[in-house]
Amino acid sequence: MDLPITWPDVEAAAERLKGVAHRTPVVTSRHVDRLTGAQVFFKCENLQRVGAFKFRGAYNTLSQLSAEQRRRGVIAWSSGNHGQAVALAAQLLGMPAVIAMPEDSPPIKLAATRGYGAEVVLYDRYTADREQIGRDIAAERGMAVVPPYDHPHVMAGQGTAVKELLEEVGPLDLLFVGIGGGGLISGSATAANHLAPACEVWGVEPEAGNDVQRSLQRGERVAIEVPRTIADAAQTHLVGALTFPVIQQLVKGVLTVSDAQLVQAMRLFAERLKLVVEPTGCLGTAALLAKLRPVEGKRVGVMVSGGNVDLLRYAEWLRSA
Ligand SMILES: *Cc1c(COP(=O)(O)O)cnc(C)c1O
Repeated sequence: MDLPITWPDVEAAAERLKGVAHRTPVVTSRHVDRLTGAQVFFKCENLQRVGAFKFRGAYNTLSQLSAEQRRRGVIAWSSGNHGQAVALAAQLLGMPAVIAMPEDSPPIKLAATRGYGAEVVLYDRYTADREQIGRDIAAERGMAVVPPYDHPHVMAGQGTAVKELLEEVGPLDLLFVGIGGGGLISGSATAANHLAPACEVWGVEPEAGNDVQRSLQRGERVAIEVPRTIADAAQTHLVGALTFPVIQQLVKGVLTVSDAQLVQAMRLFAERLKLVVEPTGCLGTAALLAKLRPVEGKRVGVMVSGGNVDLLRYAEWLRSA
């Protein structure tokens, strides 16, 4: 079956992002290597522009819009990081942007999105149909919809982080990537499949929202209630129609971690690696630390996907750990 993206799409995205996105650092830790018995490489997308990998997919998508569409602008709906990413990409490209965000998004994410010059429209994440809200505004104003994950340009853009990681450290045996709607892992797996075909790509979901794990078991997309988890960027209820076939074909399997395990990983990042990582950004690391896969003696990549966290909540989580 033809997949919605292939390696050349990731390569082309990397060209568009050159000089615009940060080439984020890859961090290692003797402490983590000792804990796991593996050689671990953390790709620090918490240090990407807007504090998450989502800038890659957003910029790759917006930069391919027509001049006419650039004039009318774009709209996105997002639990936070995608909104900020689209807002910044739109600002850099001189386009108007509307971002629909859950009203309970971390205040820092709301403020940052407005700070990039976007208009923010709020909705209730447990009751509202955010897609309907977004599509109505798009129709009224002639704006282009930029989906958070289910778009080939978004997926290809997200894959550029793993392209950088593998080009920098060489082939890996395993790669752990957090999953929300599957944009990051579909791009990541596409890059890994080309650059390190023997590398097993493992997805990691919050255990409260294991829709992708269940979807793989069933062989079709399974919708769930909006999961209640501290991993707010992974509170998706249905994997993408375009991301799912890529996951089915290129991802080895999906693991799940608890909120408590995410907090443990967050704490390790703060204490040992001096990195602020948001709960969703800890999915891969939590799976590694919980030894959900045997990694002893292996070269392991971990996607650290984002670092946008309300500092008051962050302090409370660390204190409770
Ligand atoms: C969006 C997001 C994810 C999940 O990415 P998907 O492409 O939706 O699977 C993971 N971590 C962070 C920090 C995010 O912002």
